[in-house]
Amino acid sequence: MKFETKVIHAGIEPDPSTGAIMTPIYQTSTYVQDAPGKHKGYEYARTQNPTRTVLEKNLAALENGTDAICFASGLAAMDAVLKLLEPGDEIISTFELYGGSYRLMTQIFAKYGIIAHFIDLNDKSSLRNHINEKTKLIWIETPTNPMLSVLDIKYICSIAKKTGILTCVDSTFATPYLQRPIDLGADMVHHSATKYLAGHSDVILGAVITNSNELSDRLHYIQNASGAIPGPQDCFLTLRGIKTLHLRVQRACDNAMEIAAFLKKNRKIDRVFYPGFKDAHNHLVAKRQMSHYGAMISFTLKSDTKRAANKVLSRTKLFSLAESLGGVESLIGHPATMTHASIPKKDRLSIGLTDSLIRLSIGVEHVDDLIADLKSAIS
Ligand SMILES: *Cc1c(COP(=O)(O)O)cnc(C)c1O
Repeated sequence: MKFETKVIHAGIEPDPSTGAIMTPIYQTSTYVQDAPGKHKGYEYARTQNPTRTVLEKNLAALENGTDAICFASGLAAMDAVLKLLEPGDEIISTFELYGGSYRLMTQIFAKYGIIAHFIDLNDKSSLRNHINEKTKLIWIETPTNPMLSVLDIKYICSIAKKTGILTCVDSTFATPYLQRPIDLGADMVHHSATKYLAGHSDVILGAVITNSNELSDRLHYIQNASGAIPGPQDCFLTLRGIKTLHLRVQRACDNAMEIAAFLKKNRKIDRVFYPGFKDAHNHLVAKRQMSHYGAMISFTLKSDTKRAANKVLSRTKLFSLAESLGGVESLIGHPATMTHASIPKKDRLSIGLTDSLIRLSIGVEHVDDLIADLKSAIS
């Protein structure tokens, strides 16, 4: 099946008991057994739930994996991946990591002796220098937030494979419509399905997809043991969202390309970060590993102050000022005071995250209206 067919049909069948075309929300905690141990494959809903199973089959197919494990949130999914490690093990990750992922590694797992190194994963010699016999996981995130840098998944996974290190790609910003890390050599793909997969800003959910039976068994075991499962209603909403993933992401990407070009021409704007520009950092890697450049854009103002940024942020009418991304509606955000407020200013500036940096999550409204909204807010 092609991707556009898979989003609607992969793993999804009419409900066997009624013929309902939509996967029912199995709102149950337990399942009746005919005799002790004689059941239909479902015993207790922390372990399995039919609505969740359908979502997992669908996601596995979209990422060209063999299995998916869905969690209560993106961070709960990451938590399970990190629990594959033992005290003393080391992680290598990017210094442009999502703030919550950074916090999970440095504030929670570090307490249990699992140490993470945050480096420029685009720097090949730095990557090689940080690998030692304790390195057990490379956690890749691409494109990154909010600088929209692109990492070369195929190259990093090939280095990891040679040394027996696991790889996991946080592919939240790309979705399987734009990039499929397992095809590029990754052991696991991670998603905050809260964003594009569910796509309507109404659910928190996470997933890990793999093509290794061993990893899938271990992750199911960890999930059952630790308990961070999503509810069936949230699985249903995510399944419903995924049915239009290709339509939404394509339109959002098309809108983003026009908006990025508009921003680049605007005299009040200094820099525009968008992987689709020919002169963008790692543009050729993006071109090779993604089918489009995504729908996230960041930009800075010539007047590089929080005050100038605040004026723009408070004057848009269609772009709502909010955290998160990937919904059908466009959002605008200020990383320096919102998502990245906990990062010291010096560290922020070193990656280009200046005071006036504004991040846009482009939705699927008409692009003319979005451009008009930005134009009036910026002027
Ligand atoms: C939102 C996000 C997460 C965390 O996901 P939650 O569903 O909020 O727990 C992880 N990684 C990236 C890139 C994100 O954008």
